Amino acid sequence: MKLKDKVAIVTGAGSGIGKSIALLYAKEGAKVVVSDINTIKANETVKEIIDSNREAVAIFANVSDDEQVQRLVDQTVKIFGTFDILVNNAGIMDNFAPAAEIEDEQWERIISINTSGVMRATRKALSVFLKKEDGVIVNIASNGGLQGARAGAAYTASKHAVIGFTKNTGYMYAKRGIRCNAIAPGSVETNIGSRMHDVSEFGMHQVRPGMVTNPYVGRPEDVAKVALFLASDDSVSINGAVIVADAGWSSY
Ligand code: NAD
Repeated sequence: MKLKDKVAIVTGAGSGIGKSIALLYAKEGAKVVVSDINTIKANETVKEIIDSNREAVAIFANVSDDEQVQRLVDQTVKIFGTFDILVNNAGIMDNFAPAAEIEDEQWERIISINTSGVMRATRKALSVFLKKEDGVIVNIASNGGLQGARAGAAYTASKHAVIGFTKNTGYMYAKRGIRCNAIAPGSVETNIGSRMHDVSEFGMHQVRPGMVTNPYVGRPEDVAKVALFLASDDSVSINGAVIVADAGWSSY
């Protein structure tokens, strides 16, 4: 088992990629904190883990709320005595809106969850990791964090920022036993599109031609395997890096 007795927090673990990561980490011996704003879904993930005789708890936290993020980490340490792995997975899509169509409210919501949420959870995790000079952070970025037309401007900007933040954090704490890496998945079959509304016709029209160059729509489990690699000692020399997990889409 690659994560035996490690304590991992996975944000947005009620669905999709986060859920798959939580299940795989638990299978590999980690005690998993399944965090989400959707309590019903988080409890479903926990039940699956407990039914397979592994350990997990659900803790509600909206990553855009600093107090809730702080409580998430504090409660984790209280329950399990420590905390070793943070997976910043919670994220939302935009509606493919290009710059001229962005509404402030949507921009701020996306940046607050996709980017500031990663910063808040990382900042709080570091208060634990720095004391023990040990810890791993895995950020679920996106192909949209590297390419210009995989989503709208807000999502694209939010994920580019996550990649910059990952590199900076990885380097800053490299001598303190802490690693921070990101995964850039391509297109993955999840619920992320189900909450999309008022899709920009112009934005979608511009993005669509690139969609047909995608060789493969991935499964959440595919990304989870990369997240396991990055959380385990198998990737001990990898830090501040972005692993592209898009089946070759961005190499076109
Ligand atoms: P999903 O919608 O299936 O799951 C996301 C989970 O995050 C949900 O359970 C949701 O309740 C939770 N969540 C949403 N807002 C939250 C908040 N403010 N605080 C805490 N939890 C919150 O989506 P997914 O596709 O599994 O997305 C997971 C991550 O993967 C996201 O960061 C997304 O940007 C990234 N990603 C997804 C794809 C894709 O094609 N699905 C591609 C690249 C990157």
